[in-house]
Amino acid sequence: MNKTEQLYEGKAKKVFATEDPNYVIVSYKDDATAFDGTKKGTILGKGAINNRMSNYLMRLLEKNGVPTHFVEELNDRETVVKKVTIVPLEVIIRNISAGSFAKRYGVEEGIVFAAPTIEFSYKNDDLHDPLINSYHALALGLATADEIEQIKQMAFTVNRVLKEYFLTLGVKLVDFKLEFGRLSDGTIVLADEISPDTCRFWDAETNEKLDKDRFRRDLGGVEDAYNEMMRRVFGE
Ligand code: UDP
Repeated sequence: MNKTEQLYEGKAKKVFATEDPNYVIVSYKDDATAFDGTKKGTILGKGAINNRMSNYLMRLLEKNGVPTHFVEELNDRETVVKKVTIVPLEVIIRNISAGSFAKRYGVEEGIVFAAPTIEFSYKNDDLHDPLINSYHALALGLATADEIEQIKQMAFTVNRVLKEYFLTLGVKLVDFKLEFGRLSDGTIVLADEISPDTCRFWDAETNEKLDKDRFRRDLGGVEDAYNEMMRRVFGE
């Protein structure tokens, strides 16, 4: 399958049309942003790592009954995915307190929750992705009640599968963000990416951060962390 015109350029990816209206090609960049796009940088090799890791995880999820947009990895940075309209919700699952949760509720990072939490943000750059609940999402017409229920169930299934998988690699899955899309027939599928850009990964023994927090917080060793996650997943 070949790229035709560029449809969209986001912070970390470009999306291209193909000859087939049901498929698009995603191209992952090394560009990194944080804090609502105010911090910008480059993480060398990130595009290829996120592409390959996200595809691997999407396939693992498919095997565990979660429908995804994944179709075919073309090369290091490019993947064919099913064309979807993105549901304008960022779905965040947390197993351990960190980031905005710790800040918002005035708790330390590292508290292991008895049960995972779910939260939604309204994907809207002008409004800076405000936190909303499922009733707000319904009121705003972002998704139907049935879609919201499906999204919740799928997000918790993703968490069960990935939490267990990463633990086998000596990694704690602290929290992560998912996005879902609608196929042309309305089917909800997991879309976007699952990578060190969108997950918090802590080493199970040392709690060392192996994700984008190294970039956000200027901790150094950003590329090393991405490479280490790649090594744990692919053994290379
Ligand atoms: N996250 C993301 N994109 C966003 C916001 C959050 O991928 O626009 C991910 C982030 O990497 C983390 C999880 O969602 O794994 C929870 O992020 P949090 O709400 O703590 O926000 P942050 O502290 O990253 O601003």
